[in-house]
Amino acid sequence: MAESKTFHTESADETNRFGIKLGKRLMAGSVVALSGGLGAGKTTFTQGIAVGLGINERVTSPTYTLVNEYDITSPHETELDRLIHIDSYRLGESYDDALSEAETFGMEELLDDHNAIIVIEWAERLRPVLPSDHLWITLKTTGSDGASRELVFDATGPHSLSILHQL
Ligand code: ADP
Ligand code: MG
Repeated sequence: MAESKTFHTESADETNRFGIKLGKRLMAGSVVALSGGLGAGKTTFTQGIAVGLGINERVTSPTYTLVNEYDITSPHETELDRLIHIDSYRLGESYDDALSEAETFGMEELLDDHNAIIVIEWAERLRPVLPSDHLWITLKTTGSDGASRELVFDATGPHSLSILHQL
């Protein structure tokens, strides 16, 4: 059960607005895995997701903190209570290093939180511990103007598929 869809944006603002659209459709237990190099737009997209979830606080890059949490005060679903934003950039490059470091911040427990929405930057580092049903998004710079991005969405199960179908 998998499906892929490709989108394009032409500016940071458009990527942000696309994040808002996704944020409005996410549900408790959604896991969004973001992949793509530095400057690809992962944080810009996550900021939009947070706005779409009704979070007023500005989401910043958690590059030094690994995990940031934001309360969702007026959820569109009653079970939903927070956004967990993980940035794996500082985790070890090898799976073994990344996983053992991820253990220290309770990665598996976070992924088990069914009242939260989880967004992970540099998700490739944590791929082995992701739940089988997640929305994998690969962001890539395209063209030469520096402002075009390709976003490839891969849904891997019923939960992520139902979200992808709404975009
Ligand atoms: P990442 O978290 O992947 O390292 P950021 O979102 O922090 O990336 O940074 C993306 C940078 O690229 C920002 O400076 C943003 O203004 C710029 N940018 C230009 N065009 C786009 C676009 N279409 N989508 C997202 N960001 C863009
Ligand atoms: Mg970032």
